[in-house]
Amino acid sequence: MTIKDNIKHFKNLIPEGKCTLIAISKTKTTDEILEAYEAGQRDFGENKVQELTKKFEILPKDIRWHMVGHLQDNKVKYIAPFIYLIHSADSLNLLKEINKQGAKSSRIISCLLQVHIAEEEVKFGFDEDELFSILKSELLQQFENITIKGLMGIATFTDDENKIRNEFRKLKNIRERIFDQFLSKEISMDYLSMGMSGDYAIAVEEGSNMIRIGTAIFGKRNYQ
Ligand SMILES: *Cc1c(COP(=O)(O)O)cnc(C)c1O
Repeated sequence: MTIKDNIKHFKNLIPEGKCTLIAISKTKTTDEILEAYEAGQRDFGENKVQELTKKFEILPKDIRWHMVGHLQDNKVKYIAPFIYLIHSADSLNLLKEINKQGAKSSRIISCLLQVHIAEEEVKFGFDEDELFSILKSELLQQFENITIKGLMGIATFTDDENKIRNEFRKLKNIRERIFDQFLSKEISMDYLSMGMSGDYAIAVEEGSNMIRIGTAIFGKRNYQ
């Protein structure tokens, strides 16, 4: 299967308008990305700022770039002028910086709040309690150059389908609670970004409308 075939496969699998396919192109070359682009793919995601900005400069300008990896405050300025959606807003300090850089670029930057749903300690993201206390504080509503568009989560890396399903379900429930209590001009809950190559089928069953697929499109990653 070529990259083109894989894009077509996913486009057939997920009905247009119901779920967005984000092709996660980290470590992949611009030629590989162009192959996906030629198959009609326009949403691409990366997890490192340097790689993202380099690819942005080289590749067609109608690509929508998604930041899906942990983002350091001091690197926000490099992506603020062009980023389409930051999936990995995982702290109040980071959101403050995104807001500041958004103002500098005269943009309102779309963000998803990353929520910690997996078992692993190392994964980034807000805890549920932390998230709701921030929402109640109304601090997010004061960021004029940010719009919160939904939530992102990464499930535990495991073969246990029930566990994965429960984690996705938890994220969906948090989204519904936010929808009920905090929906406003600044906070919509349009997007639920969950599901990767190994677990997207479960994620879609549990209500995901943004899947982030790397390996299943581009093949295994080669880390140097
Ligand atoms: C790498 C990555 C993906 C894609 O992972 P695959 O298993 O290759 O599909 C999705 N989301 C995030 C946050 C990633 O870092």
